[in-house]
Amino acid sequence: TTNSLVAIIHPESKKPVALKEHNSAALVPSVIHFEKEGGITVGEAAKIFLETDPANTIFSAKRLMGKTYNDVKEQTTAVSYKIIDDGDKLVKVKVGDKFYTPVDLSSLILKELKKTAEHILKTSVTKAVITVPAYFNDTQRQATRDAGKLAGLDVLRIINEPTAASLAYGFGAPSELRSFSGENPGGVGFTPTTKMIAVYDLGGGTFDISLLSIANGIFEVLSTNGDTFLGGDDIDAAIVDYWMMEYLFDAMADAQKIRQSMRLKAEAAKKHLSFSDEYESAFENNKLQLTLAQFEIITQPIIDKTIDCCKRALKDAGIGKDKIDEVIMVGGSTRIPLVKKTVADFFDKPVNDSVNPDEVVALGAAIQADILAGNTTDMLLLDITPLSLGLETMGGLMDVMIPRNSKIPTRATRQYTTYKDGQSGIKISVFQGERDMVKDNRRLAEFNLTGIPGMPAGFPKVELSFIINADGILVVNAKELRSGVEQRVEIKPQYGLKDEDVEQMLLDSMQHAKEDIQNRALTEAKTEAEQLLQTTEKFIQKNIALLTPKEIADTSLAMQALQLSLSMDDKNLVQLKTEELNNISRPYAERVMDEAIGRAMTGKKI
Ligand code: AMP
Repeated sequence: TTNSLVAIIHPESKKPVALKEHNSAALVPSVIHFEKEGGITVGEAAKIFLETDPANTIFSAKRLMGKTYNDVKEQTTAVSYKIIDDGDKLVKVKVGDKFYTPVDLSSLILKELKKTAEHILKTSVTKAVITVPAYFNDTQRQATRDAGKLAGLDVLRIINEPTAASLAYGFGAPSELRSFSGENPGGVGFTPTTKMIAVYDLGGGTFDISLLSIANGIFEVLSTNGDTFLGGDDIDAAIVDYWMMEYLFDAMADAQKIRQSMRLKAEAAKKHLSFSDEYESAFENNKLQLTLAQFEIITQPIIDKTIDCCKRALKDAGIGKDKIDEVIMVGGSTRIPLVKKTVADFFDKPVNDSVNPDEVVALGAAIQADILAGNTTDMLLLDITPLSLGLETMGGLMDVMIPRNSKIPTRATRQYTTYKDGQSGIKISVFQGERDMVKDNRRLAEFNLTGIPGMPAGFPKVELSFIINADGILVVNAKELRSGVEQRVEIKPQYGLKDEDVEQMLLDSMQHAKEDIQNRALTEAKTEAEQLLQTTEKFIQKNIALLTPKEIADTSLAMQALQLSLSMDDKNLVQLKTEELNNISRPYAERVMDEAIGRAMTGKKI
């Protein structure tokens, strides 16, 4: 929601590592800025526009995935960009005179991640495992998959974030994976018996608690709970409230503006108090202060809300907290000592926080990718469906085919028939939810089974199968058994993407093809230049005695010029400077090589 991250299995160490450019942080803020002229900036560089150009800067797009306007209308006041009021249709965001779906927005972030990964790895990246919250429904998973596709990725698997975190901690893993838990594995490892894990994930804007059971390498999500609007941002806001009251800033005319700039100070104070007893900073001719004790009083009610969610998750899973073997910490806000302490007190055991809480989910995704690549074969992932799936039957009733919390992959089959003589078609509506009447649940898809041969009412036997594949994506099949003819089912998704939408987006992405090609050419030129710099440097070190001072000085100048050109995103300049360095080094390189060959050949006959 707040940040995105890519991890790979390192080809040498065979361990998962987060990808980052030389000195930058591995986390890429999930922020997109649209310039008036049409340019798009994603990540750290886009963050500044949250303050300077909020209407054209999109954050938290993940919250909108697979949602309708009616689903999110209460949240629209919390964002500075425009969400279109389109009732029961999928959400769209308006920027300037263009409309973007959450899938478009998500794909822009994924594209940026793909580009960065390609730049770091110096190879194209075409396949990926993407993580989603465990409570994501079918539509949200499908939307995530579509976003991946749109970004040019073959999405091998969508996996639950708590499952990924558990993998990164080495739970359920064969012994060689144990070392994945980092410097201090906290005594975890493979156990043949069932292990119960609580994954506590407190990020910037969301809180999730998931209870997993792992037995013999099989992962099962027992229950999930959480709050989609609870996280570090609320802590920052609570600190701002405290300061506004303490220093009576409210009395000022521009209280709103002051709050805005105070938020950054609040976040800094929060982070500072993770390792210190007091925070102090100058602010608007005043001094902002916060002691650890005050901070903890402010924060405790927010943390207590997360504990209420933990209690509900335990109740849903039907287990007592004494049955939990491990509690693992995910998300930046779990760095707060009071969070760790409160959670440890509640579960009555120390929490496990040895893996970087920002990276743990991505590291787990890399391990899953490794499993799919066939490098680790003794693990199997099993998840559950978060909500019941069923059909509408007579009178608008929900007929549940796959109850919530079913293990996936799974399938369910049931027979239906017609209620009118000669009825040639049946309209089937698929719903998701726990209520008895379909009108209270969420409509996922609707399709017509047509071409049933004329038969008296109640005579045809229509077999319907619901199949949930390993990604948690639903596929529905229908077959009329009596006529022996297998019917093709046409699914018209009410949510999720229609083929035309995907096509349209692919067309749009073709329109950006030119820009993509230019980026690729620049990356290639830079890679070649970096390689040339390295080999030249090595060559000079090795053969310094054979070169003239002028040759060394000229080369050094040309190398500096090439190095400088790398920081400017101009492909032609990089190519020109590469050529210049080549021209300077080629003559003496050839001479040195000739001499070396001459020495090697002395006294030998061909
Ligand atoms: P995430 O959504 O997991 O990327 O977490 C982001 C949240 O973690 C933001 O609210 C940050 O302010 C918070 N955070 C990051 N580092 C710290 C820290 N050292 N202490 C407290 N909160 C932190």
